[in-house]
Amino acid sequence: MAIVTRGDRIESIVPAAGLQTPAGAKVVNVKGKFALPGFINSHEHLATPPDRKFAEAMMRRDLYGGVTAVRDMGDDIRAVAELARESLVGEIPGPDIYFAALFAGRSFFDDPRTAAASQGVAPGTAPWMQAIDDHTDLANAVTLAKGTGAVAIKIYANLPGDLVAKIAAEAHRQGLKVWAHGMVFPATPQEVIDARPDTVSHTGYLAYQAVESRPQRYQDREKFPIDPHPFANRDNPVMSALFDTMRERKIILDATNYVYETVERMRAKDPKNSPPPPYCSSQLAELLCAQAYKHRVLISAGTDSFAPADDPFPALDSEIEILVHKVGMTPMDAIRSATLISAMAAGQEKDMGTLETGKLANIVFLDADPLQDISATRKIVLTVKRGVQYPRKDYRPLTKAETAGRL
Ligand SMILES: [Zn+2]
Repeated sequence: MAIVTRGDRIESIVPAAGLQTPAGAKVVNVKGKFALPGFINSHEHLATPPDRKFAEAMMRRDLYGGVTAVRDMGDDIRAVAELARESLVGEIPGPDIYFAALFAGRSFFDDPRTAAASQGVAPGTAPWMQAIDDHTDLANAVTLAKGTGAVAIKIYANLPGDLVAKIAAEAHRQGLKVWAHGMVFPATPQEVIDARPDTVSHTGYLAYQAVESRPQRYQDREKFPIDPHPFANRDNPVMSALFDTMRERKIILDATNYVYETVERMRAKDPKNSPPPPYCSSQLAELLCAQAYKHRVLISAGTDSFAPADDPFPALDSEIEILVHKVGMTPMDAIRSATLISAMAAGQEKDMGTLETGKLANIVFLDADPLQDISATRKIVLTVKRGVQYPRKDYRPLTKAETAGRL
């Protein structure tokens, strides 16, 4: 096939043999390569705390690895908005960024990340990171969030079910997406799903629906590790019911398998300077993700953490491999997760996620067939974003100065 682009859009996709090269067109020979829609990572954090060097490095590795858009799931939006503008207009090489403003209960704001992502502003009062309680004027809070350029409210932690529902309704009324954690402490997974968010993040959180006692605050997660036994056969009835409801309501699961593996890798490498043992193992998260897949839940591909500094490829490649090798997805479904479903999660499916006439010219060219071997996503030769080419041979590896102390 031949893909004809004009400006930043796909004009047509036609058999190469019958192509009448338009006058003045520049021909790029990709004979024998495999063309895919640009990849989309449904879970990144690019600015907690803001660190321009680091963020630009992650964005460069993403783009030259085929990632043409990301969801930013809570950060210092002052920094993210500028990075988003620069990559959108092509001043720096990076994916498009669709970001959320974060809402959480007041008791969450002792978390040091909230201070790191709103320096100079009293924690909980920044428009992009707001403490919410029963007295909050929610219409005003959502409007303030919208003014930051956010396309969504991320419902993070320490909120009861009725407030989660009210926030979701108000965000939707004002045209924003609702990206919720699967457990909002004390709001349960069922209460979160009943608030009808567009996406829920972190498969492991959903398991809290099927246990006897659950933490009432985000800070107490580690005190409630989830026993994997009731989930071992991928047929836990409580989870099946939850997944069926998600499928019926088209609520996307932002599974983030990669982050569970990242925590375990960090702990194995340097136990002293690592986070505590997680509430949910990677094995359990992947098993639950497999059950969700069996119930045909829409699953997006997000990583919530970055690949190690010496990895020349973005973490999303690993998430795609986990979806195939551990969750049991077909390669085609894993690719759909990392393209169309992630585009839907970001609310951008009209413009990206598939190769179609009229959509943005966001295209990945691979040297091998990913349907034969999913690791072919690393055999990338060219990324096209908004019609601009980023050949893999131009990729500049990460430097120590860029990642110092962060990866
Ligand atoms: Zn996150």
